[in-house]
Amino acid sequence: MINVTLIPAFSDNYIYLLEAENGEVAVVDPGEAPPIIEVLESKNIKPDMVLITHHHWDHIDGLGELLKWNTCPVAGPASETARIKLLDILLDEQSEFSFGGERVQILETPGHTKGHICFYFPESALLFCADTLFSMGCGRLFEGTPEQMWHSLQKISALPDDTQIYCGHEYTLANAQFCLEIEPDNEALQKRIEEVQSLRTAGKPTIPVSLASEKQTNLFLRAETPEKFTKLRGLKDRA
Ligand code: ZN
Ligand code: FE
Repeated sequence: MINVTLIPAFSDNYIYLLEAENGEVAVVDPGEAPPIIEVLESKNIKPDMVLITHHHWDHIDGLGELLKWNTCPVAGPASETARIKLLDILLDEQSEFSFGGERVQILETPGHTKGHICFYFPESALLFCADTLFSMGCGRLFEGTPEQMWHSLQKISALPDDTQIYCGHEYTLANAQFCLEIEPDNEALQKRIEEVQSLRTAGKPTIPVSLASEKQTNLFLRAETPEKFTKLRGLKDRA
């Protein structure tokens, strides 16, 4: 099993620290280095690998400083070598990749960016999906089409219900409010928004969340057709 630590960064980003049972350590999406180095120093550990989901600055800008502090291989989307300069291990859906003695499955999830990938750990039931899926939301379509994003979300939806979702931002409360406006009678959503409100009031993260919960509450994930998804994304963009 893999132990996950959330490292808040900027105003609402989450960087993740992964510690495997065999002692291996990885960092997911180092948007800024100082908060990561602080946590690593407090635990007296160093990263063996960095995992990158997509090229946006808030997910990669700390990479150079982190590697200067402790160099290690960087794994990320094979299609983004032009925009992510420090990649050593190039990944796509065909890649045989492992971390901490566990197989890691790569999902190509275009939509937010063209080359966005997610890291799925089937044995530990963890998904690092950055800006593809948020709790009760999904990423904005900066580079892809709504159709592409819908397909990407369908890939995530096909994973086991007990998968723990670790996304790239704490957008949960605003997303929940949007979903509740559209589906005011959704009981699972009403319950989840209560839980989210009390977590946020206590200053706690709303992440991780189970895929089972998202399947009941995330309207973007629940959209049955690309057309329904497109309409919903348009409403959210104008909200
Ligand atoms: Zn992004
Ligand atoms: Fe982001």
